[in-house]
Amino acid sequence: MKACVLHQAAPIAQRPLVWGDVPTPVPGPGELLIRVHACGVCRTDLHVVEGELSGGRLPIIPGHQIVGTVQQVGPDVAGLSAGARVGVAWLGGTCGSCRYCRRGSENLCEKAVFTGYTRDGGYAEYAVALADFVYPLPEAISDEQAAPLLCAGIIGYRCLRQCGIDNWPDARLGLYGFGAAGHIAIQIARSRGAKVYVCTRDRERHQKLAEELGAVWVGGVEDRPPKMLDAAIIFAPAGEIVPLALQALDRGGRLVLGGIHMSPIPELRYEDLYWERLIRTVANNTRADGREFLAEAASVGVRTYVRTFPLAEANEALIALKHDAIRGAGVLLV
Ligand SMILES: [Zn+2]
Ligand SMILES: [Zn+2]
Repeated sequence: MKACVLHQAAPIAQRPLVWGDVPTPVPGPGELLIRVHACGVCRTDLHVVEGELSGGRLPIIPGHQIVGTVQQVGPDVAGLSAGARVGVAWLGGTCGSCRYCRRGSENLCEKAVFTGYTRDGGYAEYAVALADFVYPLPEAISDEQAAPLLCAGIIGYRCLRQCGIDNWPDARLGLYGFGAAGHIAIQIARSRGAKVYVCTRDRERHQKLAEELGAVWVGGVEDRPPKMLDAAIIFAPAGEIVPLALQALDRGGRLVLGGIHMSPIPELRYEDLYWERLIRTVANNTRADGREFLAEAASVGVRTYVRTFPLAEANEALIALKHDAIRGAGVLLV
């Protein structure tokens, strides 16, 4: 099969993904072979390719927002058969028995495997996934529309939950960074009645899209929203935003950091954190997050804005992502 393989991490400008032929994987017990139709491009892929995360495997085929159809079913798989359309997300497998798994926090599993990071992902014509970790996808939504839901959507959903504003009409929510995750999260947040304030450095694409999607206010990252925020999510991987976002938070407000990697956070002033403000990170997702998000996205009618690239041009897609040149989400078409 054709695939984009990372042999050695390097700055994306050096185009480290190598396009070529590799053996088509064979599904083992509990696994599915999936013919990939589309795979979303995530900032985490950029971190993997540029070597900003530790613990990954090399060589690796990146990509953890896979939409495809089941081509072949491995031994010991029940309930899924060839031809089924499924999605594969970042959480590729968990042990089911560690202290985190046992208490329902499988996102924290000590032995978790991650698609496109510790096992091969979807920048390829075929991918293997554990059947227990794939999601059935509604027929109504196209392959390219569905792909960004599988990480940008699910992680944004988990961030929203950590904001503590689920049942709080008129809650004031700030979003810092407005790429793939932000443009989906705003749709869910608005459907729940929140007023959304967007801070993003890119005026050309991201600020305009935020206005189109109903933000009550849009500004730059250093601009202070006109009202104090009840909660905020930082999707941008920039630690210097943390004190700025804290200063925009109302008493008791929560600040959620949605990325897997962030540049160093500057020293904080206690007075910016005081009044019971909270900062917390989001690590991975549970399968329940995925199922609940996909159901809510379908019922709300979430629409993703995508820019598509041919699979062979994964390097170009990641370069565009790095330079804020994608409106909405990037998706590779196979
Ligand atoms: Zn576990
Ligand atoms: Zn991702």
